[in-house]
Amino acid sequence: MGAAVTPKDDFHAISLSGGKDSTCLTLLMIERGLPIDAVIWADTGMEFPEMYDHIARVDEHLHRERGLHITTLRSPKSFEYMMFDEPKQKLSCLENRARLGIPPYGNGWPGIRVRWCTGQLKTHQISKELNRLKGQHRLQQYVGIAADEAWRCKGLNYPLVDWGITEAQALQLCYDRGFDFGGLYKIYHRASCWCCPFQRIGELRSLRRHHPALWARLLDLDNRARAQFGPSPLGQFKKNWSVARLEERFANESSSVAAPV
Ligand code: SF4
Repeated sequence: MGAAVTPKDDFHAISLSGGKDSTCLTLLMIERGLPIDAVIWADTGMEFPEMYDHIARVDEHLHRERGLHITTLRSPKSFEYMMFDEPKQKLSCLENRARLGIPPYGNGWPGIRVRWCTGQLKTHQISKELNRLKGQHRLQQYVGIAADEAWRCKGLNYPLVDWGITEAQALQLCYDRGFDFGGLYKIYHRASCWCCPFQRIGELRSLRRHHPALWARLLDLDNRARAQFGPSPLGQFKKNWSVARLEERFANESSSVAAPV
């Protein structure tokens, strides 16, 4: 007879992005007494300072209510290392770069087709941790997708959808519980990396206005990317817009608004 197989226990893990929906999910699961064994958050290293404060507050709350801390996942390679220094190894990639005069290291700005930042700094880190947990438990994953985005659900647990909580209600619920994201949602539509090239122009205008130190860092990152990767897509922050050109555009807008009539 074979050895008896011990049934795995259920393990309840919340994926926390730090945004309003996953924060609302975490707060409600705590409040409604649902089981929580882990709250998993991947730090890209490029989050807004307000987001780091917010995560620390959620962690404090989680610890107070459930005696748990957030599991923070970080790639050993930083965003900047991946952007400028990671050596490329694939022969076809090296040949292609040599032909285009692009150095054999650094991934440059993420693009729609190669979103290396999400892949390496978030998805890969999270999948690694989830696979580790799956090896030990029967994993129940909880994802904070709001009821008005239910089309994004793919076979995991989506309590906000079950509870009919929309994105607007999720944000309000966070505010009502005293989690205001340091005001991020009053300025931006989204609360992910401040350096994201997929932000709308309007959000970049807000970044320059409300977070001038981060805007200066973005300008510096883009100048370095353009120097290293030239006009190739790797050196392009946004199609047709470098950060330096955006700086000029926004500065002109402000001076024309400020100019006396
Ligand atoms: S928010 Fe933008 S920069 Fe950050 S990981 Fe996602 S795609 Fe990349």
